[in-house]
Amino acid sequence: MPFPKPTRRSWAEPWKIKMVEPIRLTTRAERLERIREAGYNTFLLRSEDVYIDLLTDSGTNAMSDRQWAGLMLGDEAYAGSRNFYHLWENINHYYGYKYIVPTHQGRAAEHILSKALIHEGDIIPGNMYFTTTRLHQELAGGTFVDVIIDEAHDPRNEHPFKGNVDLQKLQRVIDEAGPGKIPYVCLAGTVNMAGGQPQSMANLRAVRELCNRYSIPIVLDATRAVENAYFIQQREPGYESKKVAKILEEYCSYTDTSTMSAKKDALVNIGGWLATNDEGLYQEARNLVVVYEGLHTYGGLAGRDMEAMARGIVESVDDDHIRTRVGQVEYLGRHLIDWEIPIVRPIGGHAVFLDARAFYPQIPQTQYPAQALAANLYVDSGVRSMERGIVSAGRDPKSHEERKPSLELVRLTIPRRVYTQAHMDVVAESVLEVYAERAQARGLKMTYEPKYLRFFQARFDLADAATGAKVA
Ligand SMILES: *Cc1c(COP(=O)(O)O)cnc(C)c1O
Repeated sequence: MPFPKPTRRSWAEPWKIKMVEPIRLTTRAERLERIREAGYNTFLLRSEDVYIDLLTDSGTNAMSDRQWAGLMLGDEAYAGSRNFYHLWENINHYYGYKYIVPTHQGRAAEHILSKALIHEGDIIPGNMYFTTTRLHQELAGGTFVDVIIDEAHDPRNEHPFKGNVDLQKLQRVIDEAGPGKIPYVCLAGTVNMAGGQPQSMANLRAVRELCNRYSIPIVLDATRAVENAYFIQQREPGYESKKVAKILEEYCSYTDTSTMSAKKDALVNIGGWLATNDEGLYQEARNLVVVYEGLHTYGGLAGRDMEAMARGIVESVDDDHIRTRVGQVEYLGRHLIDWEIPIVRPIGGHAVFLDARAFYPQIPQTQYPAQALAANLYVDSGVRSMERGIVSAGRDPKSHEERKPSLELVRLTIPRRVYTQAHMDVVAESVLEVYAERAQARGLKMTYEPKYLRFFQARFDLADAATGAKVA
């Protein structure tokens, strides 16, 4: 008998596992208790009580043996560490920027950038807000204005580049505010809050042309720019045979400056940077970093952290790495789509986003449906996820009203190189179970609200707690 021809050829991760970290499955009764103690906020759970942790892809990466070996080569000199120069070289080589200021993580770079460039009353247009980015813009006296395409706000729209800027919206903001009031246009690729959606090269080029007409610089939030480059390779005509590293280089070349959370794409547990081609901004940032982070050759990091980052950058742009990274997210998302569970489409680069509005139409947005869904998923299986809806959006700094984003999502964020396909199956099956029980779900009320970035530490109780109803 002839050997059957395979009907599919699977890909697998370009690594094998050398060290393992035990995790523990708790009982449903324990998890109910833990989530109550945590005020129904998954950020307030202890990680020991979590089975599969999809809270975030930030700093949760598994480093390679080469990165761990690099830790031993840490040069902990206060000034001029050789790891700093290695990091500089690699950022310059792969991202293309001339000047580099290391920071302990992304928001530290955003802080320094906002302080250096934003004046009271300024307007900063961007392709959808990010929590820490917008807060630093506001604290510096600026106002963020969303200029992303309308499709990005519709979880069912299949547009391949939902991170794109709507050029007419941007033109309108420039006309209304005047170019003098716009210190820079702030772009992210991929766009986290839209569901990890990419921006196309053509769109960035068009934004560049428009900005050139008014001499407005472009600042890139490069946190997931490698994942963005991968989507360009997969979806944009003309890029299918280019290496991700080359696409990344071209993408960054249309921008003047970048802030980076290396805890994401760059495969480390801590680190970030501000990189720029603008010498004036570099001088200012280099000065400010001394005030807030540390000397400009370490920026709040140990030498070994900078070495791990320098090595992580190289691994992050490898085509096999990025294909399996995004491919794992796709694997989880495909299961949910096949089971007709409402998620943001197309599937994003770093996470699968559950559409909490479609899960729980009975819960009004003011009772935090996504927050409730994240709590219910934890109770079902010990899978930890994150709210990305009205709680994350916070309040308008002037009116103090709750902002009501059109996207009310729960993010299942996949750490890089950490979990296996079997873990993804467990997650998918738990989501299916919670979806099957959706009719019984109830809303929440906020019982404690922090002033800044409330989603991290807010506490909740069941909206109808007085009547003794239980969650899910
Ligand atoms: C995580 C993140 C940041 C902030 O970076 P931290 O390292 O968490 O301070 C900024 N922008 C985006 C898009 C992010 O995902």
